[in-house]
Amino acid sequence: MKHYRIAVIPGDGIGKEVVPVALDVLQHTAEVFGDVTFNFTEFPWGCDFYQKYGMMMEEDGIEQLDKFDAILLGAVGDPRLVPDHISLWGLLIKIRRSMDQSLNIRPAKYFEGLASPLTAPKEFDIMVVRENSEGEYSEVGGRIHRGADEVAIQNAVFTRKATERAMRYGFQLASQRKGKLTSATKSNGIVHSMPFWDSVFDEVREEFPEIKANQNHIDALAAFFVSKPQEFDVIVASNLFGDILTDIGGAIMGSIGIAPAANLNITGEHPSMFEPVHGSAPDIYGKGIANPIGQIWTAKMMLDHLGEVNMGASLLQAIEETTAAGVKTSDIGGQASTKEVGKEINKRIKVLS
Ligand code: ATP
Ligand code: MG
Repeated sequence: MKHYRIAVIPGDGIGKEVVPVALDVLQHTAEVFGDVTFNFTEFPWGCDFYQKYGMMMEEDGIEQLDKFDAILLGAVGDPRLVPDHISLWGLLIKIRRSMDQSLNIRPAKYFEGLASPLTAPKEFDIMVVRENSEGEYSEVGGRIHRGADEVAIQNAVFTRKATERAMRYGFQLASQRKGKLTSATKSNGIVHSMPFWDSVFDEVREEFPEIKANQNHIDALAAFFVSKPQEFDVIVASNLFGDILTDIGGAIMGSIGIAPAANLNITGEHPSMFEPVHGSAPDIYGKGIANPIGQIWTAKMMLDHLGEVNMGASLLQAIEETTAAGVKTSDIGGQASTKEVGKEINKRIKVLS
């Protein structure tokens, strides 16, 4: 019997609605399989916590989280209560950076019952590996002069260490999947960082001769996500390019409420964090209609990361069967509530032969 200690941060808005459903599904899956147990410890951190204590998480929050096998997070941020730069940097980005969660992994996959707007063939199953620690989202730069002469300078930072790490992880992932990798570049327009990115891609691909590897410029790649997504397997992208591509990934699945994500620490020194792509969705919070699939699929990514791939596969199959049966929330064209979708997924969890 394996025991996993999971830190749970429901966070804000619909995070508080979808996380309990995901925990219920995880608990149920553990019971059906019978060889693992989960010990969930909940942390009430987020914007409500900030309003009471003036901080998004406890001061020793990172030390507390470090003791767990994984972190499951709902959503952070409610701009009505706390400005986004405070809530995100005080919790989400703080955890990602303190715990060296250097890769952000986001799938985009079609299955029956989703409300994909694509008219092109829909059988896509893509995994985007997004560099999560540097690139275009760096703090290097500044503003000079004022008025008509004002200048803003934003430097992108690409270290060999982080670029190689993302690239190598992408190739390893491709070798466990369909054996294809696409590097998202823009070396025809960005003259320093992207040629460097390409050279690291060329070096690392030598280690994986069996992988069919190519590169696309990000503008073309964004268009291909819509016109021929079925041609991709693993995509490795910088922080900004990955961010944009994965939002398109959510859009072609038909709802951001479906899309899951993992923030991976690949050194094993700190836990990884699992959080859906969607935010706290204040516009629908409290109505019981939030789609829980993004959070539940996120829990499946956590199971895979813990090595429980059979449980993970069963969970994804149960999700697919549930949407195919039409038990769906309104964002993907159904009428079911958040809890009803969770119950329906639970009914379909089984040990796969
Ligand atoms: P954040 O800044 O936290 O990312 P946001 O406002 O940019 O928040 P979301 O909170 O993801 O983005 O919401 C974007 C839109 O998608 C909203 O209209 C929201 O209602 C909808 N949405 C997001 N998540 C879900 C979900 N799980 N189920 C249904 N609709 C959702
Ligand atoms: Mg947003």
